Amino acid sequence: MTGQPGRTGRSGSQTSAGDLLELVRSGRAVTRGALQQATGLSRATVGQRLDRLFRAGWLREGAGGPVGSPLGGRPSITLEFDDSHAVVLAADLDTRHARAAVLTLTGEILAEHSGTLVIEDGPEAVLGELGRWFAELLTKAGHRAEEVCGIGLAVPGPVDSATGRVVQPPIMPGWDGYDIRGRLSRAFTEHTSAPAVPVLVDNDANLMAYGEQRTGHPDCSAFVLVKVSTGIGAGVVVDGSIYRGIDGGAGDIGHIRVDAQALCRCGSYGCLAAVASGGAVARRLAEAGVPAASGSDVRDLLAAGHPEAAALAREAGRRVGDVLATVVTLLNPGVLMIAGDLAGTPFLTGVRELLYQRALPRSTAHLDVVTSRLGERAALIGAGALVVEHLYAPERVEERLVALGV
Ligand SMILES: [Zn+2]
Repeated sequence: MTGQPGRTGRSGSQTSAGDLLELVRSGRAVTRGALQQATGLSRATVGQRLDRLFRAGWLREGAGGPVGSPLGGRPSITLEFDDSHAVVLAADLDTRHARAAVLTLTGEILAEHSGTLVIEDGPEAVLGELGRWFAELLTKAGHRAEEVCGIGLAVPGPVDSATGRVVQPPIMPGWDGYDIRGRLSRAFTEHTSAPAVPVLVDNDANLMAYGEQRTGHPDCSAFVLVKVSTGIGAGVVVDGSIYRGIDGGAGDIGHIRVDAQALCRCGSYGCLAAVASGGAVARRLAEAGVPAASGSDVRDLLAAGHPEAAALAREAGRRVGDVLATVVTLLNPGVLMIAGDLAGTPFLTGVRELLYQRALPRSTAHLDVVTSRLGERAALIGAGALVVEHLYAPERVEERLVALGV
C-alpha cells in the first residue's frame, strides 16, 4: 500500500495540491473554508492549489449545493473528486478462471467479463489474453483506452509489491519471478494502441480484504479476510492499508502444516489447504461418489443443501477455525470475514466452533465473524481501489499534475 502522508497532518507550506485532494477525497474537508482550517493555508494559496486540481479535471463542485462554512460567513460550495476524468482496469486470476472489469475511479463496475483462463498456461499466454479482454471491455463500456489511468491485477500467490512479481507461488507454475507488470502493460498497449499505464499486482486475498474493508467496514482498523476456494489465503488490512509483511508473504496460511497426511498442490503433505480448501472437499466428495471436481462444484452443492457437502464443509471450517484461533490472537481484529467457494453457514459454523474454543475469550470478545459482501467482485473492487489510491496519493499528485501541464 502507498503511504498516507495526508492523514498524518502535514501543515503549512508543505501542504501540497495532493494533500488538499486527499482531504476532499476522504471527505474530511470538502469546502475551501474547511481546507483552510485543516491545513493552515491562506485562502489565496488554497485557491491556487485547487485551481490546478480543477484544471486537471480531478475536482468538481459538488451537486449538493452550498453548506455552512466552519469559518462562519456565507455558505460554501462543496468540492468533490471528479471521477469522470479516467477509468481503471482490474482483473482477478484464479487457477482456471478469471474475471476482468472496467471501473470508475470510485469503484463502480462499468463492464465486466469472466471466463476460462488457465494459470498453468503461464504468464505470457494468460496476460496476453487479458490484454484482449481489456480492449473488448473498454469498447463495451464505451470508453477509450487513452482514458485508462492504471491496471490492477489480483493473483492467487504471494506478491512482492515492490516489484509486482510473485514469489515462490505454490499453485502458479511458471510465474515465479516473472515480470507481470511489463507483460500486462505490453499486452494492454498491443491490443489498444494506447500509451502504457502503471500496473499494480497484489495477492487476491489481500485485494479482496482491501475491497471489502473499504466498502463495508471502513471504520474497522484491523480487518482479516480468509478466502477458501481452490486454495486458502488470508488478507489483512490494518489502519486502512494492506499488511503484506516484509516480502508479501503475510496471510499465506494455506500451507501451514496441520495434523493430516493429505498431499497438497504445493507438493508437501499435511497443508491446511490439502484438507480444508474447496478443492479438498471436492476430492472427499468425489471419493464418496458425489460428482465434484472443484471448489465451485462444492459451492453449487452447498447452495443446493447437499447434506454430505455440508458436513464436509463444516469439518473444513473446524480445521480452518483452529488455525484462525492463532491468527485472531495475534492480530485482535474487529472483523473476520470468510469468503470464497466454501463461505456459507456450515463452514462458518465449523470456524466458530474451533475459533471460540481455542482462542482467548479476550481476543474474540469484540470480533464479528461475517461472510463476504462483495462476493466474486471483491478482488476486482480492491484492485481498482489500490490503483486509485496509488495514483492519487499526495506524494504522486505533483508529478502527475506537472505531466498534465497544470
Ligand atoms: Zn501446501
